[in-house]
Amino acid sequence: MNRRKALVCLCGIGLASLTRGALAKVNLSAIPMKSHETAMRAAIAMAAQNTAYPFGAVITNASSGAILAKGVNKTFENPLLHGEISCINNYVSQYGNKNWADVVLYTTGEPCPMCMSALIWARIGGVVYGSSIASLKKAGIDIFTFTAKEINQGSNFSQTQLLGGILETECNALFMNRKRT
Ligand SMILES: [Zn+2]
Repeated sequence: MNRRKALVCLCGIGLASLTRGALAKVNLSAIPMKSHETAMRAAIAMAAQNTAYPFGAVITNASSGAILAKGVNKTFENPLLHGEISCINNYVSQYGNKNWADVVLYTTGEPCPMCMSALIWARIGGVVYGSSIASLKKAGIDIFTFTAKEINQGSNFSQTQLLGGILETECNALFMNRKRT
């Protein structure tokens, strides 16, 4: 191989790896269960701040698992402030409206259509939840019949990865034991 051919070859490798890097997306199933559980525990800790609607959320860096932002349901302040939206706001206030593909949002309850849509609009790398909407209904929180999966699949704009049932028993207990008014 002459020098020119070698150079072309090296450039090819460089471009290929760059392209792979740029296209690399979060793979939720590649994240160790221990990391999912650590993040969900942080979401549960946030949820404790709202005893009636214990929806807590955190956003993590998908690679390191570091917690970047936190949120809890504050609908007593503003009807838009579900836990996930509070968390999105907290993230943007610290890091700006960027790097969404590299982060994962963890929430104690399956996102409602508003929150799931917001997460899709953000093009977030992944969404992980504890309690399903069926469990939330059993706890007296009867929201939409649309599941997060249906909202995600129905999006023509972009889709994200979804994973449910992480620390489901703990999250279900949180909602079943909530303070009912
Ligand atoms: Zn919501």
